Amino acid sequence: MLKSDDGKTVSYWEASEDLIKKDSLIESIETDICIIGAGISGLTTAYLLTKAGREVIVIDDGLIGGGTTSRTTAHLSNAIDDRIYRIEEWHGEEKARLAVEAHTKAIDEIERIATEEKIDCDFSRLDGFLFKADDGEDDLDKEFEAAQKMMQVERVERAPIKDFDTGECLRFPRQGQFHILKYLSGLAKAVEQNGGRIFSNTRAIEWKGEDSPEVKTANGQTIKAKSIVLATNYPIMSKMFAKLPAYRTYVIGARVPKGSVEKALFWDTADPYRYVRTQEEAEHDVLIVGGKDHRTGQEDDANRRFANLWQWTKTRFPMAEEILYKWSGQFFETHDGLAFIGRFSNSEPNVYLITGDSGMGMTHGTIGGMLVSDLILGRENAWQEVFEPSRLATQSIKEAIPEIVSSTVPYVDWITGGDVSSVDGIKNGEGAIIRQGASKIAAYRDENGKLYQRSAVCTHLGCIVRFNSLEKTWDCPCHGSRFGIDGHPINAPAISPLGEIEESSN
Ligand SMILES: Cc1cc2nc3c(=O)[nH]c(=O)nc-3n(C[C@H](O)[C@H](O)[C@H](O)COP(=O)(O)OP(=O)(O)OC[C@H]3O[C@@H](n4cnc5c(N)ncnc54)[C@H](O)[C@@H]3O)c2cc1C
Repeated sequence: MLKSDDGKTVSYWEASEDLIKKDSLIESIETDICIIGAGISGLTTAYLLTKAGREVIVIDDGLIGGGTTSRTTAHLSNAIDDRIYRIEEWHGEEKARLAVEAHTKAIDEIERIATEEKIDCDFSRLDGFLFKADDGEDDLDKEFEAAQKMMQVERVERAPIKDFDTGECLRFPRQGQFHILKYLSGLAKAVEQNGGRIFSNTRAIEWKGEDSPEVKTANGQTIKAKSIVLATNYPIMSKMFAKLPAYRTYVIGARVPKGSVEKALFWDTADPYRYVRTQEEAEHDVLIVGGKDHRTGQEDDANRRFANLWQWTKTRFPMAEEILYKWSGQFFETHDGLAFIGRFSNSEPNVYLITGDSGMGMTHGTIGGMLVSDLILGRENAWQEVFEPSRLATQSIKEAIPEIVSSTVPYVDWITGGDVSSVDGIKNGEGAIIRQGASKIAAYRDENGKLYQRSAVCTHLGCIVRFNSLEKTWDCPCHGSRFGIDGHPINAPAISPLGEIEESSN
């Protein structure tokens, strides 16, 4: 099995469909459009542009689809998870209507592409149900009032969950679900059939726009292009980190008897909310339940979070027999509920970005592909202003302040001691921060006892990284940069590896 570089755990999608490996780019080339990042955002953009006859090169520093896309739960929804009434409050009714339309059209687009390209990706239409959580807000009335003005929605007595009475809830028809990696394989194949070229293990380390746009790769190649698309989840070499707080979210996949759970999407109103769907297997179904999010790098208690998700699941879905899959992943929020999609800046009009996916990155990534390809092709797109990256945060400053404070508090790690006093205190399979004079070291000992040591200083803005003991990565608690145990960068904003130090013997 080819495994994503994103972390140690294996998602259901990775376990059931191989990630795709392509050749690395080993020569400098010229193209019409260079897309950095081969997740759902990058490949959808590539598909639509190659379909329109444009010359496209996609590069990814890992395997195709091996980023956040391989960690998703692949709900396809237009019931915006920050709530439609909030989107209306922050952006006004017209923009809220356009945002809902964009998510609706994104589901249609995925269905259209899957049908047209004959991608067998388990796509299906189904209802979505939003119900009040015991520990959640009671805002269903407000949501109904706002949503009914712009989409199909109805109040129903309860969600169709056999052993659990959710109480009155909202039903959103014509939502969708699919197997993301099967879809992405099909999309990659279609891009290549249309003449596009895709390279994996090709890391972009620099780009420039203006008069002569180009991308430089870690192995010394240059890609000259008329347009560049940053589809790297967090846009590399951007200063958007204050607008994009990073979160980690957790998922379990449990065996349930075939057909015992209604095929639908379920979400509750807890904050963070729980998200539930099923996936059919030959002998049984898999009940996929996610939630328990926290700011990246600020907690390291995955087992407690999985146990909590399992207890919640067993109480509501007693047919759940055992946990088959456990994984986690990272996503970036925006302060106003909508992704940032469009031109990078006025001074670099030929560079585009797709980011701020939040829990709706399957549709946001698809909207990104549709909107960015229209901009490049010079077509009008009614959603341009809604997702404009340079828009000011419309969320009230009172709501945004805790997020900003949360990004700066971890700087105190500079003055605290280490987790252990020396590497001798680190057991096999564990990582810890060690203070050495004025420096801090990120030390990890693998299952065979081999010791890895790097500087613990995040190469983005100098926070001290923290160990993620579930995924065996070093995560920055300030802005969500992540690094492998050998220090290689996994998630921007940082793009350089953790610094080298002189290794002491183990
Ligand atoms: C657990 C979990 C559950 C989720 N559930 C849902 C859901 O149910 N529905 C939904 O709509 N959304 C969901 N999301 C969100 C959604 O999965 C993501 O928003 C989406 O996959 C992001 O896709 P992307 O293409 O923008 O980014 P990615 O998939 O991360 O792709 C970016 C790519 O860029 C590459 N890259 C990065 N830096 C470089 C570089 N310097 N050079 C070259 N390549 C680079 C990476 O290797 C990666 O492959 C979930 C997310 C998580 C974590």
